[in-house]
Amino acid sequence: MKIEGGCYCHAIRYEAVGEPLASLQCHCRECQYITGGNPNVIMVMPEAGFRFTKGMPSSFARSDIEHAVTRLFCPTCGTALGTRSPKRPGAIILKVGTFDDPSIFKAKAAIFTIDKQAFHHIPPDLPAFERRPG
Ligand SMILES: [Zn+2]
Ligand SMILES: [Zn+2]
Repeated sequence: MKIEGGCYCHAIRYEAVGEPLASLQCHCRECQYITGGNPNVIMVMPEAGFRFTKGMPSSFARSDIEHAVTRLFCPTCGTALGTRSPKRPGAIILKVGTFDDPSIFKAKAAIFTIDKQAFHHIPPDLPAFERRPG
């Protein structure tokens, strides 16, 4: 499949070609900062098929935690675009809200429900994991 997307102000655009490696909703405390409080919805795509087609994001990684992810965001409008994680080499984690067509997303699992808030919604038929599956 091919996913096209970008940030809120259109300074940054990307495309991702390939088969999705995972489709998840993440309830972790860190994601709550990035989303504004709700779970994050993400698709993991192969890095080999991913490129920025316009602009380049800024990046940030915390230095005070182990295995910190690198978060990519638009330096102009602040939209969080995606993440590179040392736990997922060769992959880029994309935020569904930045897709041109977010309706293509369907979560296959909920993760880090250990940090779930009472107001987060998990569909009853969705597999849920306290941390990561398996
Ligand atoms: Zn922007
Ligand atoms: Zn998370």
